[in-house]
Amino acid sequence: MALIAHKLTELRGVGPKLASRLQDYGVHGVEDLLFHLPLRYQDRTRVTPVAALRPGQEAVVEGTIKLCDIAFGRRRSLVAVLQDGSGALLTLRFFHFNAAQRNGLQPGCRVRCFGQARPGRSGLELIHPEYRLTGDAPAPVNETLTPIYPTTEGIGQLQWRKLCGQAVALLRKNPPADLLDGVCKLDFTLVDALIYLHAPPPDAPLALLQAGEHPAQLRLALEELLAHHLSLQALRQRERRSAAPAMPVESRAVSQFLARLPFRPTGAQQRVMHEIASDLASARPMLRLVQGDVGSGKTLVAAGAALQAMAAGYQVAIMAPTEILAEQHLSSFGAWFAEDDIDIVWLSGRIKGRARQQALARIAGGHAPLIIGTHALFQDDVIFARLGLLIIDEQHRFGVHQRLQLKAKASDWRPHQLVMTATPIPRTLSMVAYADLDCSVIDELPPGRQPVTTVLVDNQRRESVIERVAHACSEGRQAYWVCTLIEESDALQAQAAEATHAELGETLPELRIGLIHGRLPATEKAAVMQQFKAGDYDLLVATTVIEVGVDVPRASLMIIENPERLGLAQLHQLRGRVGRGSTASHCVLLYQAPLSANGRERLQAMRESSDGFFIAEKDLALRGPGEVLGTRQTGLMDFRIARLPEHDHLLDHVQVAAAALQAQHPKRVAPLIQRWTGSRQVFADV
Ligand code: ADP
Ligand code: MG
Repeated sequence: MALIAHKLTELRGVGPKLASRLQDYGVHGVEDLLFHLPLRYQDRTRVTPVAALRPGQEAVVEGTIKLCDIAFGRRRSLVAVLQDGSGALLTLRFFHFNAAQRNGLQPGCRVRCFGQARPGRSGLELIHPEYRLTGDAPAPVNETLTPIYPTTEGIGQLQWRKLCGQAVALLRKNPPADLLDGVCKLDFTLVDALIYLHAPPPDAPLALLQAGEHPAQLRLALEELLAHHLSLQALRQRERRSAAPAMPVESRAVSQFLARLPFRPTGAQQRVMHEIASDLASARPMLRLVQGDVGSGKTLVAAGAALQAMAAGYQVAIMAPTEILAEQHLSSFGAWFAEDDIDIVWLSGRIKGRARQQALARIAGGHAPLIIGTHALFQDDVIFARLGLLIIDEQHRFGVHQRLQLKAKASDWRPHQLVMTATPIPRTLSMVAYADLDCSVIDELPPGRQPVTTVLVDNQRRESVIERVAHACSEGRQAYWVCTLIEESDALQAQAAEATHAELGETLPELRIGLIHGRLPATEKAAVMQQFKAGDYDLLVATTVIEVGVDVPRASLMIIENPERLGLAQLHQLRGRVGRGSTASHCVLLYQAPLSANGRERLQAMRESSDGFFIAEKDLALRGPGEVLGTRQTGLMDFRIARLPEHDHLLDHVQVAAAALQAQHPKRVAPLIQRWTGSRQVFADV
């Protein structure tokens, strides 16, 4: 249900040219104008006495010109000095001016100006103020604060004000019913909030507006977050209506498997395994997200689920975001299930030709119970005979889109889905980004893990770090040396790693140093990892290809070069490669000075904490939701009004309102989703 159905061209002053410019900018109808909210406001509702002006303040001042002349400083400028009733003087300065201006600003005439006060050579100055001569009669001031809109080339502020003003007037004339009416306690209706924000009254609290915390803004943010939350819930409900294969709980196969392991599952692992087992036993598709910090043992939980599905005669697909990680699963599952005689099919982008045809035939023939691979599993020609369970590891690397795409492949039934992530998702985000999933948390690390001590070292002291590596390795420890580049280019990353490999080889001839990067053929990558795991290398020089999932318990030292280039989540992932065994582990962040403020804050967070949840919250605060979820390019998490994590405090209300809306006004759900997520989201088609 649109708030307002008018077309842009129905507005005064909008011809085809402006309309198409607006379209290009994403404003397709009058309703979009209503949601095109100001970035900030100017106060032109009162005249400020010059004596009360503060540096930085934007204000209207009015007074008499005392003097006007051309000043020849570093740059020639027209300078006029104004005095008002407060007796104070203010300089107006123009670097670009014409003769008419110069002649217009004669001593004795009254002017009204608007501009930002800045400290100058002799007191405050307004540079290029807007001004007009007022004569003796007092001129009226604006009745509302002046909005400054986000804009694009070719559309001026005045134009935006006129357009949005007309949109607001149309809304006022015909205000629609409020979708949240009677659902929760509201300070503002949607209509009142929009009217207020396009033209706040003179006494509006500017600081609150600037912070995005004004009740009118909160009203809109609440509705927006609610719409996102509801859209995912709708998706989930639709999923839940489909059929899935019911797989009986397999306590025997699972306990036999566990009995073979050299360790006992933690309490948290057991709890989560139970949750999954009962989901799988149901004839409705499981949609479960397992969150567990790096090293919490998610793979084991996945193995339990896989056993249950296979015992029921269904295929299980396990998908990982990188080839190294997928290979590692291949080797873990291969070893774990060796006695069960389970035939595993391997599929990655590098499997081509005949080998690929064979793999596809085994998948389609239904003979292969377990398929492990990368996103190559998404390809159209991969057809599963009896896919019953899909396990996606390290979810944050896959977009929601991809998740949906693979889901869409199963035919008569939906496979159960298990999504595992090591990046804990702050509650805020999971409510609006993962509300379609149930959530299990592995909130316990296996016993005996040593915390990783993290230190920051300036690259100028690189030599001492190299010595430290030599020392650790001489004591039989293993180490990673991670080379980072901002470029996504595999080639450049590989180059950097090769150079470092050569450098360290020269300085540390006594060490056996391996090298791994994205350009190596898959078999070679696997071989290098295997050798490192077997202890054939002391030191592994790597790119961020080892970021997720790599598991070599004996490695207890990690050097990360240029950590300031990486995001917090990525650093946390990398660091999670050490501290997996029982030796005390260390992580050296070898940074390049000078650090930006943001960079310093990130590295300090790393030093302070190894708690994935703390780091995830910090990451969200520093980078915003789009970056954290990796959806920035898709626009999926681009909120119009809501800001995360600043608006976290609204989430309790979101939950309450969602429940109330669904119980009392189910008919309002679809229009609400449509209003806020429109065509941008796959979830919208409910
Ligand atoms: P992640 O959650 O990061 O995927 P993994 O599943 O790779 O963690 O497990 C990390 C390491 O801990 C592996 O070597 C795994 O065998 C081991 N592990 C898993 N569960 C336990 C446990 N309950 N006790 C001891 N070690 C465990
Ligand atoms: Mg893992």
